[in-house]
Amino acid sequence: MAIRVMKFGGTSVADAERIHHAAQLVAQEGEPGGVVTVVSAMSGVTTQLSEAVHAAERGDLGPADHAVLQVRSRFDEAANDLISQPETRAEVREAAHAVLEKFLAVCRSVAVLGEATPRVADAAISCGEPLVGHLLAAHLRELGREAVFVEPEHLVVTDDRFGDASPRLEETRERVEERLKPLLERGVIPVTGGFIGATAEGIKTTLGRGGSDFSAAILGAALPADEVIIWTDVDGVMTADPRRVDGARVIGELTYAEVAELAHFGAKVLHPRTIRPLVERRIPLMIRNSFRPEEKGTRVVSECPGVPSGIRAVTDVGDLSLVIVEGRGMLGVPGIAARTFACVAACEANVLLISQASSEQSICFVIPSSDAECVQRGLEEEFRHEIERRQIDRIRAHEDVAIVTALGHGIRSSAGAAGRVFGAAAEAEVNVVAIAQGSSEYAISLVVGASDQDRAVRAIHREVMCV
Ligand code: ADP
Ligand code: ASP
Ligand code: MG
Repeated sequence: MAIRVMKFGGTSVADAERIHHAAQLVAQEGEPGGVVTVVSAMSGVTTQLSEAVHAAERGDLGPADHAVLQVRSRFDEAANDLISQPETRAEVREAAHAVLEKFLAVCRSVAVLGEATPRVADAAISCGEPLVGHLLAAHLRELGREAVFVEPEHLVVTDDRFGDASPRLEETRERVEERLKPLLERGVIPVTGGFIGATAEGIKTTLGRGGSDFSAAILGAALPADEVIIWTDVDGVMTADPRRVDGARVIGELTYAEVAELAHFGAKVLHPRTIRPLVERRIPLMIRNSFRPEEKGTRVVSECPGVPSGIRAVTDVGDLSLVIVEGRGMLGVPGIAARTFACVAACEANVLLISQASSEQSICFVIPSSDAECVQRGLEEEFRHEIERRQIDRIRAHEDVAIVTALGHGIRSSAGAAGRVFGAAAEAEVNVVAIAQGSSEYAISLVVGASDQDRAVRAIHREVMCV
């Protein structure tokens, strides 16, 4: 039997009405024994929990108390509407209230210690998903389907990089064999939480904000599934973020490579690491609108034959800094690049791109602004001698830059497409600080000042092909 993984994002499970709708989609589109469901926390909950933990670090427990009251009342309201059986409702409420009590206990200890380590933060911010998981499973049972909530930390095994953990696929596969397969064989619908995993020792981890998409892909690869469906609040992957660009259109079909670049360069619709587990097994990924299931959505596959090369979408990411290590004497000094990126790694900064230098006398790269100070300090220390000897003239960080990326198959080899990107930027009077040496033939990236970001996105969007 075909197996589908269906993931519902925060807005798709925001309240009783949305959870009911999600349950209907699961019941309609998944055969018993052929569907695994992954849920996010209700929209806004993870952010609220995260802010509360950070306030607790400063000794302020007010936001934690407030978050628990608010989340509990959202949960209770939904439970009243979705679960008519008093016993089941009491059971589910008890489980949810215990999760929230634990959250409060964690926040209290954070307040005492004055610090939330990444491990402790993960224990706290992972409290939103199980609440929805319990609700959806119970509601599916009310609709006459056999369904159970399976704790995600019993399924997804990860490394111990708290806050941004990576899955261990082999161990995850074993867990899936042990815990999900028998349920599917009995025709039961497993419902689990996205975003969450645990180390092999059982300590909870999270996969990074927005990580429920990644969870769906990890489980999809581990099963393996025949299809992974991401149910969200837009009609699919669009030519630009529809909240920011008027006239953004749905793209019917994209390749894994195109979507991976799109997500890497800021399209929030998909967690950037979602594609990787699916590529090897060529598991198709669908992005669909849970508010408008009649729409076809976007299908992501290995190849889209027949699509001409050109600009298919534009995306952007802000709050970045461009760091430049420059000096005329650098040319003859071996190992500068290796030492530069060792400093970046020491700050655990994620390099979004290495930009094309105008000569070999500088190295430029873009990192999140939050890491810029650490990286710049590290580089100044590392290259103290070279700076004294004038082999390196200076290390600069341009703050407040953004990367605007035009995407499409064959875009870099198509002279016309590149010309259109630069032409559009020039016409909109966008000052291009640097041009990216994109990692693939699917993207051309421009580094622009933050004040030019929106203008650049809109100008390049006008060049998107009409297909
Ligand atoms: P979910 O809670 O379902 O995971 P997200 O808010 O994480 O949903 O992602 C969906 C949002 O991504 C959309 O509402 C949209 O504003 C944003 N988005 C950004 N870029 C794009 C794009 N290219 N196509 C579609 N949506 C995009
Ligand atoms: N609830 C988590 C977050 O808000 C995961 C997700 O929604 O994908 O980041
Ligand atoms: Mg998301």
